[in-house]
Amino acid sequence: AVAVEAKNVSKIFGAGVGEVRALDNVSVTIRQNEFFTLLGPSGCGKTTLLRLIAGFEMPTEGSILLDGEEVAHLPPFKRHVNTVFQNYALFPHMTVAQNVAFGLEMLGKGKAEVQQTVAAMLKLVRMEELKDRRTSQISGGQQQRVALARALAPRPKVLLLDEPLSALDLKLRKEMQIELKRMQLETGITFIFVTHDQEEALTMSDRIAVMSKGNILQVGSPTEIYEHPADRFVADFIGETNFIEAEVTERIGDDGRIKLPSGIQVPHKVTTSAGVGSRVTLAIRPERIDLVKADADAHFTGKVSNIVYFGTDTTFHIDLESGQGVTVRMQNRLGHRDVLQVGDVVGLRVEPEAMQVLRD
Ligand code: ADP
Ligand code: MG
Repeated sequence: AVAVEAKNVSKIFGAGVGEVRALDNVSVTIRQNEFFTLLGPSGCGKTTLLRLIAGFEMPTEGSILLDGEEVAHLPPFKRHVNTVFQNYALFPHMTVAQNVAFGLEMLGKGKAEVQQTVAAMLKLVRMEELKDRRTSQISGGQQQRVALARALAPRPKVLLLDEPLSALDLKLRKEMQIELKRMQLETGITFIFVTHDQEEALTMSDRIAVMSKGNILQVGSPTEIYEHPADRFVADFIGETNFIEAEVTERIGDDGRIKLPSGIQVPHKVTTSAGVGSRVTLAIRPERIDLVKADADAHFTGKVSNIVYFGTDTTFHIDLESGQGVTVRMQNRLGHRDVLQVGDVVGLRVEPEAMQVLRD
């Protein structure tokens, strides 16, 4: 079932001179119980989209639907949506428990229900023992947990989280990533999470929407986004990628052949609009390239220009005959590092599925 839908949403700030198109005809569907992430660089429109869903902003065009109902006319407090802000916004003079209870009391809940819910929420975020501390006397990570408990307490259908972990140090962030995922699973509430950190998005999300300049470029599971990036921006923003120019030499439906810069032709699915004779860009992940003998089976031939040892893996920089440099990453269990040396001539092989043809 669908929890949130944005349909052809545009948001323009400061209409007229100096206007900013923060969102440009964005459509996206977020399912119930999903951990859904909006990922993109600063300024791409993530917060704006969250604020539209929360009801803090109105779309210039398009509609926002919650549970299938248009909510443009509804104020934030009538939307069954809650937000966790980056700065937590806790009341420092109140205790942990009072902070969590506050929203419930505002909603007019009875004393017994408030107590019961507060206890359950503090258990969920593992803050029972500190319930009587003032929030000015707990750590940043603990404040984060209280902010989560407070936002989850009224049992919203959707929880919006705007870069909630960005103020935490690395170790605490990793810990909270796991915790957030657990809380989402335990509560069954739809989470819409905003981050500019691709690794965070890959490790936590059921699905990710990659955004750039007010647009959603691709929506998919972490593996879909990583293995099959739709365009150059997505391939570049998430993980590391080699871009290789090739030419379509045959095409019947999606079945085609492409010519690599080495002159070698390989059968390949082409799902973009590129016809015979078109140049296409291939995205190839460093760990998808095998180093082999420089012979007829190799897709490319090149010379090792640099070797960097990382413990778990080794990165090889290789200058292809075409002049282009590529990066190859190999796990270390086979001890390639000791076999290959700078200056060696090597062959490179890539399975056709690992050569992703990018959208223009
Ligand atoms: P993100 O959260 O991805 O960093 P935002 O949604 O905050 O991006 O901003 C998207 C664009 O809209 C940016 O260019 C930003 O400067 C602009 N913007 C956001 N809010 C406002 C506002 N209230 N008034 C004017 N411009 C805004
Ligand atoms: Mg933002």
